[in-house]
Amino acid sequence: MSNIEQTLSIIKPDAVERDLQDQIKSEFLKKGFEIIKEKKIHISKEEAEKFYKVHETKPFYNDLCNYLSSGPIVVMALQKRNAVIDNRNLMGATNPKDADEGTLRKKYGISIDKNSVHGSDSIENAKIELDFFFKD
Ligand code: ADP
Ligand code: MG
Repeated sequence: MSNIEQTLSIIKPDAVERDLQDQIKSEFLKKGFEIIKEKKIHISKEEAEKFYKVHETKPFYNDLCNYLSSGPIVVMALQKRNAVIDNRNLMGATNPKDADEGTLRKKYGISIDKNSVHGSDSIENAKIELDFFFKD
């Protein structure tokens, strides 16, 4: 099998603030993800704006960038077969209210903005997002 992929996961400020990072990391490990790279950082608003540039025309863009830069986050490169889609499935729907039982956003998310985790939505974006945080 050659479809080993890496995807970017972020544990967002609401989850780090509640000290959920070890619990969330253990959920990834239980599902067979390897955590290849990991760092805890506090990004600036300008960095958040760059990261979320695809959303710059959305009405929630400003709040979203303020939020992601509001406190420490944990960024990780997760690896497994089909990592991108498997991580999206483990995360659940964007709005925790719509997320299926057992998903991270259902378990830990507070609201559509404070939804605890980010995950790349395609193989192509995973490469771009991993480079954003881990290219050095
Ligand atoms: P996902 O994180 O599930 O890929 P999107 O890429 O559509 O979702 O949106 C990025 C992030 O922006 C979401 O995780 C969420 O935190 C926030 N967001 C999305 N839609 C809204 C909305 N309608 N109101 C407020 N925040 C939103
Ligand atoms: Mg997205």
